[in-house]
Order: sequence, then structure tokens, then C-alpha cells
Amino acid sequence: MNSHPLPTFRVERDALPALLKAMPKAELHMHIEGSLEPELIFALAQRNGVQLSYPSVEALRAAYAFTDLQSFLDIYYAGASVLLKEADFFDMAWAYLLKAKEDGIVHTELFFDPQTHTERGVPFEVVIKGLTRACEQARTELGVSASLIMCFLRHLSEEDALKTLEEALPYRDLFIGVGLDSSERGHPPEKFARVFARCRELGLHLVAHAGEEGPAQYIINALDILHVERIDHGVRCVEDPALVKRLAEHGTALTVCPLSNIKLCVFDKMEQHNLKTLLDQGLKVTINSDDPAYFGGYLHANFLATFEGLDLDAGHAYTLARNSLEASFVSDEVKAGWIRQLDETFARFAA
Ligand SMILES: [Zn+2]
Repeated sequence: MNSHPLPTFRVERDALPALLKAMPKAELHMHIEGSLEPELIFALAQRNGVQLSYPSVEALRAAYAFTDLQSFLDIYYAGASVLLKEADFFDMAWAYLLKAKEDGIVHTELFFDPQTHTERGVPFEVVIKGLTRACEQARTELGVSASLIMCFLRHLSEEDALKTLEEALPYRDLFIGVGLDSSERGHPPEKFARVFARCRELGLHLVAHAGEEGPAQYIINALDILHVERIDHGVRCVEDPALVKRLAEHGTALTVCPLSNIKLCVFDKMEQHNLKTLLDQGLKVTINSDDPAYFGGYLHANFLATFEGLDLDAGHAYTLARNSLEASFVSDEVKAGWIRQLDETFARFAA
């Protein structure tokens, strides 16, 4: 396949980290429960009188040496057990939104997993109200735009997802779309065909994790059966050249999460990550942090590690930032405003 032309900018190599931070960008693949730092887990456990099975912050941090998606998910759910009240959900989201501001994120679409909480007896309303309050405060106090995407846990049944959707409907205005996350293998997209069809009727935006640990066929099924608008991860699309061509032609965004991919051994080393190849093939790639507290860094750390490992330049930076803004679920007018700011930032750095 022909190489896709990327823009070129004359930016000093030394100025690249500052440019990566300053450029306005969107984060489109971030699980809010995955932003829980060990310190906050301990603080919330104390506030709520929850007994943790780790004696200290250090012991909990040490347990983050997981080897695959499942061993990560086990710790992830243990961490989430301290979230009980609206204020807990607010505090968790607010901590992330402060980091987002610091990293130059102008817009974020946060994933949340209601089933992780409703299963433990925490009402849906408590979850969504706490998260919504943080998103509203981010808009007014930080100038960061934030919306919510409700994810269904794919290791649970479709009946459970349908039940969750029913619980969520009274709060339909508080989230913009639905996604599909958790263990991919053995839980193909088609397992959730009915619930996604229902969400589509409701006018919700649709995304799904596919092609991270699962095969390229899961990406095809997410597109053809679930009718998703973006693919979360999607790095295994390269196993099917016809699929790569299709994704490029349709401009379907892939929300790639480089540090997560290394931590979960999707790729052994950053130097082996296929992000640059995907960009070269004309795919609408974005960089995201996935579960930043667990995977070694927030968005800026992901950019730094990727640019260093793959020797990317300012042209890649522009393309990645622009892709993230274009792939977001905001109006064309809002996107155009951010892209103008992006152009101004690059003009300033290239000057
Ligand atoms: Zn994810």
C-alpha cells in the first residue's frame, strides 16, 4: 500500500516534547476507573471504611506488575471496590481532568463501567451524577470539554448489558454513547448485537474495543454487526490487508493506547509497536492512555514514549492531534475551532 503523505513542519527536535504537550488534542480512549491512583484508592478506602487486601500504597503499586489483560482486570476491579458514593466518583474523575488539562487535552470522552459498580450495589445514579458533576466543573473551571461513554463489560451477558441500558435510560442526556470493554477473547462483538441495535435506535454514538487481543475479524464484526463509529485499539487490523484498506477509505478512527499495549504485552517493546505503520497506511490513528494509573502514564507520557520509541516527528504530531479532534463526537463547528488552535500552535513552534 502506498505511503500516506504526512504534513512537514520545521520544528527543532528539542522543542518536540513541549509541542506535544501544548498542541490541543482530544483523548478518546480512557477508562475513568483506570485513572485511580493507589494513593486515591487508599484515601477513598479510608474515607469509606473499606478493607483493602493490600497493606500499603507501595504494596498495591507493586501488584501492578500484571502480565496480561485478565491479570490486569483482576486488580482493576479490586481498585474499583472503594468507589461507593457520588463524591468518590467525582474525586476520581476530577483527578483525571486536572491531569488532562496539564497534558493539553481540550476534549475527552471518558469511558465508565457502570456494571463494575451496580454489581456491588452502587446505584447507577450515584455513578453518573458524580462523574457528570466533574465533567461540568472541568468545563467551567478548567476549560476542558468532557463527555461520558457508557461501556458494557463483555465478559458479562448481553442480558446484563440490556438491563444496564434500561437503568441508564433515565439519564440518557448525561452520556453521548456506548462502548464495549473488558476481556476481548471469547467475547466477540456479535454477542452484543441486540443491545447495540437498541442503542443505535436511541441515537447514541457507538464504539467498541476490538483487535487488541482479539483477531482482525472482531474489528470487522464490530463494524458490520454493531455499526460502531470508532474502533478502540484495533492494532491487529494489520493481519487483514483488506480491512486496513477499508478502515483507511472510510477514515475510521482507531484509538490506539501505546503504553497499555506494551504493559499488556500486545507488543514486546515500543520500538515494535505498529502505530507508525498504521499512520503510513493512511489510518486515522489517535494516541490515548487507556488506564493511565495502571499502565505507566497519562496522555503526554504516551506521546513521549511513542515518539521516542518510533522516532516520530512534528508531522506525525500534527496528524495525531488532528485525528483526535476530527474523530471526537462534537459538532463540526467546535472541531473547526480546535483545529484552528492546532494550526496556530504549530505555526508558533515552527516560527
Ligand atoms: Zn480500553
